[in-house]
Amino acid sequence: KNTLMWFRNDQRLQDNRALYAASMRSKVGGTQGCLIGLYIISEEEWAEHDEAAIKIDFWMRNLTSLKNSLDKLAIPLIVKTAKHKIDIILIVESLVREMEISHIFWNAELMINEKKRDVAVRKALLKKFPSVCVEECDDQCVVNPLDVKSKTGNPYAVFTPFYNTWCKLVETEPHYLELSEAPDANPPEAKLLYASHFNTKIPSSYPHNLDVNEINRLYPAGEEEAHNRLEQFLATKVKKYPEARNVPIQEGTCVISPYLNSGVISIRQCVVIARAANKNKITTGDDGIKAWIRELGWREFYRNILVSFPRVCMNQAFQPKTEKVKWSYNENHFKRWCEGKTGYPIVDAGMRQLNSTGYMHNRLRMITACFLVKDLLLDWRMGEKYFMNSLIDGDLASNNGGWQWSASTGTDAQPYFRVFNPLLQSQRFDPKGDYIRKWVPELKDLTEKQIHDPYHGLTPKEFAKLGYPKPLVDHAASKKKYVEEFKRALALG
Ligand code: FAD
Repeated sequence: KNTLMWFRNDQRLQDNRALYAASMRSKVGGTQGCLIGLYIISEEEWAEHDEAAIKIDFWMRNLTSLKNSLDKLAIPLIVKTAKHKIDIILIVESLVREMEISHIFWNAELMINEKKRDVAVRKALLKKFPSVCVEECDDQCVVNPLDVKSKTGNPYAVFTPFYNTWCKLVETEPHYLELSEAPDANPPEAKLLYASHFNTKIPSSYPHNLDVNEINRLYPAGEEEAHNRLEQFLATKVKKYPEARNVPIQEGTCVISPYLNSGVISIRQCVVIARAANKNKITTGDDGIKAWIRELGWREFYRNILVSFPRVCMNQAFQPKTEKVKWSYNENHFKRWCEGKTGYPIVDAGMRQLNSTGYMHNRLRMITACFLVKDLLLDWRMGEKYFMNSLIDGDLASNNGGWQWSASTGTDAQPYFRVFNPLLQSQRFDPKGDYIRKWVPELKDLTEKQIHDPYHGLTPKEFAKLGYPKPLVDHAASKKKYVEEFKRALALG
């Protein structure tokens, strides 16, 4: 009898809880059973979550890398396509039958639809194959969201107390940072027994509109790449991280998010490796490492919010009273924001970085999100969806958390009357204008003084020659309108 490991957003061999448990199981009692991998392609699920084509492409490239690693261990990876979500149950059932499976393992997902799917699969299997054992592992977080509770036993809705408790748990309970080993190899006969599965070609890319060579250069697939990135970052950039993380042109962050969100590296591995470079401490020692681990804490926090307040993944605001805001739904404004043609250079630079690379620097995510909501008075959900559709690191929990923070509708949110001034943000975080020059070539010849606000810094004739749009709105007037509207909505209770 064989053991099945169903891979999802956990495309790695090292520290993969379900994979390790499956590997241990397949050895139990000398059953001589084999470990078999499964991955299900489900376009309907991808569409439901607005997954970006560039992210799906990243998954497919990583799947090839995973298959190559599994091949070396004589573990076949079977890739199946579900035309409709409902077919997923049939796929698992038929595999259980064909491959003589006695145990199935997978890592739990946090999103509601996926949880429902897993419950349905488990139920169907129990009905048809009562002797088959299904095991679900917690792998997505360092500390399981349900373990981080306030003294009153409630989930946290504010980051700092959450993070303090999280750190205490991590420091005092070593099991949270235990890493699992890669699976053992199957007996060599598996290669012969399942030859057809080893020889099957699996999808290795997915069509998207960006420059394929450039994307493959920016984000090479594979566990090794994810670890190299982290090691490189810790060896060079982490010291300056507390300041450099805010200056987009310095590229002072790790850019590990595509790998983390596809499960090519685990969050535990990130914490363990960074902590080891700081004498195994997370709250004392090197300022850069402490600050970086704290950002990983934000990722854990937003996962906690998703699990404890599931309304946030059902298109609802964390603070229900903000639902009364009347958004403008101005289609032209939205289009110009998406295209990076708002006439605000720092906003346009951020949007163009996203549209060309599938990634945007965190400072720019905050600036562009705040601009959409507070300058254009557009519904934050429109921006959230556009980001998901465009990001290689799109992640429901972090994206929703970031958007709701920026829109003042979420946990810990910016107070609604605090509105980023795009001009001041630009002068502060891109003082020389180099980030703008990189992404908005129409402005590349402007001086440091002109580049942040060319419309007001140049004569009308000089401005017209640039071929760059006029500001879509006046910041001061928009801010006033937005603050009044938000106040009105909150007063309605
Ligand atoms: P680093 O600075 O090197 O940080 C390391 C890791 O910490 C990141 O990879 C990420 O996993 C985590 N992290 C850092 N900052 C945050 C944060 N503010 N919230 C949650 N986790 C964080 N992050 C995503 O992974 N996916 C998203 O879809 C996403 N959408 C966002 C939307 C908005 C509006 C905002 C304001 C932020 C969003 N973020 C998102 C958070 C953050 O911008 C990215 O995690 C970060 O830019 C990734 O780059 P990095 O790996 O170089 O980060």
